[in-house]
Amino acid sequence: MTEAPPRQVVVTTSWDDGHRLDDRLAALLAKYAIPATFYLAPRNVEWRPADLLSPAGVRDLADRFEIGGHTMTHRRLPTLSDAAARADIQAGKEHLEDIIGEPLTSFCYPCGDYTQAHVRITGELGFTLARTVRRSTLQPGSPLEMDTTVNAYAHRVDGPLALRMARGRPWTAAKLFLSWDELAIKWFETCRTEGGVFHLWGHSWEVDARGDWQRLERVLEHVSGRPDVTYVANRDLLALGV
Ligand SMILES: [Zn+2]
Repeated sequence: MTEAPPRQVVVTTSWDDGHRLDDRLAALLAKYAIPATFYLAPRNVEWRPADLLSPAGVRDLADRFEIGGHTMTHRRLPTLSDAAARADIQAGKEHLEDIIGEPLTSFCYPCGDYTQAHVRITGELGFTLARTVRRSTLQPGSPLEMDTTVNAYAHRVDGPLALRMARGRPWTAAKLFLSWDELAIKWFETCRTEGGVFHLWGHSWEVDARGDWQRLERVLEHVSGRPDVTYVANRDLLALGV
């Protein structure tokens, strides 16, 4: 009997919005040699311009990490006409390409809000991968509607998931429910057993606002430096065929 080939274990991360705190996040990712894709919205209407990365800050990130598109203004795409949505996606892409001097191939729908029209437009504009905000899977699924594993944020809706992952043990479930870092580590260990893609994502400003830098560092340290794990930016998931 031949043994089944070991299933691939992949770690990828992505970080949204282009807040200036992405600098601090980038330093932490670099410390643990964790690749990442930063999805930037250069004129994000939710922040004052001073709170966003400067062009020099974007270039600095691009030296070490993948830069992805996140529209120019970070408005929810379904609130716009298809033409306006296309223009916002394209403007953000071209703006960032001018700064970093290379094509963007990964995109993230602002707030995970999109329709099939936006999937089509994203592909037409030259993106080969688009990330959603759906969580709780190790299978990324369709390249232009890519799902994730865990968000660096304590979601109130995660109670039933925590109970399922704790296999009904209430104390373990409570720990997973209260601590997204516990949940992330649990997902990573499941990934090591079952194979798949562990995709951690979040926002630097949210990590900061919730005082979660230590939780994040704990997760990055835990998942880093393992010889049996492949570490990639989002765009490289496609070449792995996962
Ligand atoms: Zn966003």
